[in-house]
Amino acid sequence: MTLSDDELERYARHIVLPQVGGVGQRELKAASVAVIGAGGIGSAVIPALAGAGIGRLTIIDDDVVELANLHRQPLFREEDAGQPKAELAAQFVRRLNHFVVAHPIQQRIDTDNAGGLLGGHDLVIDGSDNFATRLAVSDTCVGLGLPLVSAAGVQFQGQVGLFRGRPCYRCFVGDAFDAEDCDNCAELGVLGALTETVGGFAALLAINSIVGIGEDPAGKVHLFDGQKLSWRTIAIPADPACKACGSD
Ligand SMILES: [Zn+2]
Repeated sequence: MTLSDDELERYARHIVLPQVGGVGQRELKAASVAVIGAGGIGSAVIPALAGAGIGRLTIIDDDVVELANLHRQPLFREEDAGQPKAELAAQFVRRLNHFVVAHPIQQRIDTDNAGGLLGGHDLVIDGSDNFATRLAVSDTCVGLGLPLVSAAGVQFQGQVGLFRGRPCYRCFVGDAFDAEDCDNCAELGVLGALTETVGGFAALLAINSIVGIGEDPAGKVHLFDGQKLSWRTIAIPADPACKACGSD
């Protein structure tokens, strides 16, 4: 996979980085990433990945834009209310970077369709707004051997981590939330700049993982406190009884 003169100019500030270079930029172009949720997290992730020149972006979201989304979802504008988020996000990507192939899927992802929707990608970023979806996505990624960046934000708290096989996201949160929608920010509220911060971190994790920058971040969760303005990192122990990645 080669880079055209236009691409070399567009990505010049990437390519000058010794950790990226032309080789890394070609790896980004060769990558196919699925983003689940074009909400607050997705609004930070999708522009970052499109700008970075990820070759193929699949955007999965079954929702339409509401006015109450606009304080944290700068992918959308007032006149977009009522329009499907996946298609609008794909249009945003194409206008930002025509080298990126954007593929919108207006479906709700669940345990039944996740394998078909996510198979064939190189990495998945989950910015959905509930535990049931996040666990279904995680279990599917474990089954398919796909690296997963899982990111969430509510009120002033954010969490984001990269999982590759074992330990998995289910090892981190356990089984109690499979049927729950208990952290929906519609009820609890969320600061717009918080999801931007966490989503930006998720994009960085994804890009570093694709290019191979720094030490492997897999198996750690990064927790952000938006009131103390501090990050802390915890290593996730593998749960021997985990029903997704456990050995039994
Ligand atoms: Zn697990």
